[in-house]
Amino acid sequence: MDSTIFHPAFKPRPYWWEAIPIGENPEVELPAKSDVVIVGGGHTALNCAIELARAGVAVVVLEAEDFGFGASTRNGGAVSGGVNLGKGMSGAKSGGSDPAIRAMIGDAAESFTHLEAVIAREGIECHYERRGRFVGAFTAKHYAGFAARVAMLNAAADAEAELVPRERQREEIATDYYFGGMVIERSGKLHPGLYHRGLMAAAEQHGAVLVGRTRAGKLTRTGDGWSVETSRGTIAAREVVIATNGYTGGLTPDLQRRVIPLASHIIATEPLDPELAQSLIPKGRTISDTPRVLTYYRLSPDGTRVLFGGRARFTQVGPEVSAPALHAMMLARWPQLKGVRVTHAWTGNTAFSFDFLPHMGVTDKGLHYAMGCNGSGVAMLSYLGAQVGRKILGGANSINAFDGRDFPTMPFYNGTPWFLPFVGSYYRLRDWLDRRVS
Ligand SMILES: Cc1cc2nc3c(=O)[nH]c(=O)nc-3n(C[C@H](O)[C@H](O)[C@H](O)COP(=O)(O)OP(=O)(O)OC[C@H]3O[C@@H](n4cnc5c(N)ncnc54)[C@H](O)[C@@H]3O)c2cc1C
Repeated sequence: MDSTIFHPAFKPRPYWWEAIPIGENPEVELPAKSDVVIVGGGHTALNCAIELARAGVAVVVLEAEDFGFGASTRNGGAVSGGVNLGKGMSGAKSGGSDPAIRAMIGDAAESFTHLEAVIAREGIECHYERRGRFVGAFTAKHYAGFAARVAMLNAAADAEAELVPRERQREEIATDYYFGGMVIERSGKLHPGLYHRGLMAAAEQHGAVLVGRTRAGKLTRTGDGWSVETSRGTIAAREVVIATNGYTGGLTPDLQRRVIPLASHIIATEPLDPELAQSLIPKGRTISDTPRVLTYYRLSPDGTRVLFGGRARFTQVGPEVSAPALHAMMLARWPQLKGVRVTHAWTGNTAFSFDFLPHMGVTDKGLHYAMGCNGSGVAMLSYLGAQVGRKILGGANSINAFDGRDFPTMPFYNGTPWFLPFVGSYYRLRDWLDRRVS
């Protein structure tokens, strides 16, 4: 490994895991029955479990690996409130004037409200800060497109968004790399590992049973519900919720063929000189940008390190591939970080849907689900997880714009994304061309 990039103390695991004891949960016995069984152990599952358990419903959460294995403790911790529905909405015919689209943006904004409310109500200490997001325009054309987006986000989601022309860019970020950008004040950041731990504690405190290292196997309909075979015995349930997002597998082939598991990668740098660290993002915002191979980055909660993420590759690759690629992307934006080494590099799966929108609903077989984060699910899937819980409780306030929408797939797609390496290469080429003509 290149010693100019990799720190001698390098670890191929999430920086966030330094603060949480992954794999140290006590072994919990699998109950014989429960009102609801939730499959998956991330933000979606735990928000659903909290909602149900608070109402006195018996809930068992099954996580195939150790709790915290999935994307929920691997993400960048950027909390968006509507902004990342962009691609999903661009496929729609009538843009921001379409009431269905405005409803979706409104519900996306609700996801932000939900996340802040859960953190406050459950007293979760996860370095949550409402610091806003800066989105950098990769080309002049992208910047020109921001004006309409800012107007729509403000109208439909009270996003407190504004344009930042290139001349004022350095108020937001110490780079001239972008062609200007936009700020969305109504967004924040957190420590995803601590948020996940806090959700686990809250779910248990409300009475949910969290069973780790227990993979859900066959799901069989019974007279009044389901029989769920697991790697540690069988459990009976009235309702089953699938909350497996980018790790959705052969357990639910109907859902597996509707989501594309796309890898995302992050590096953490060694602690920086404090003055340099402070200068990079003066207002403490999260950063993202607009190339097809986009990047997202921020400082660590203690303000000492850069956490730099992106789709260095669209598939799972080791740190020897992802870290040099991300390091180069980081230096393209911040040449002043030359010589700064990487202490952590990791990867995880997101779930993209074919319409770029998140989905919740009930399958033909009667399984509840929420998934399809399209790379941005900390707030959205927390919200949709809770909404599934409310729906099971029969609450009218569970109705939202993402519920029961057509969840498209593609002919011949069964959940194996053989095309991703080609898409990745094509996207890199298109980005290179876009930038040359901008
Ligand atoms: C590198 C990276 C960076 C990201 N950055 C951001 C960001 O900055 N902001 C943002 O909003 N979003 C971000 N995301 C997306 C966000 O992390 C996800 O949307 C969110 O965590 C999904 O939560 P989840 O609970 O649905 O799924 P996960 O947390 O992925 O959990 C799914 C779990 O299901 C389990 N499972 C699968 N099959 C079974 C089975 N048969 N039985 C039992 N368990 C099973 C898996 O083991 C897994 O742990 C990022 C994702 C990645 C990977």
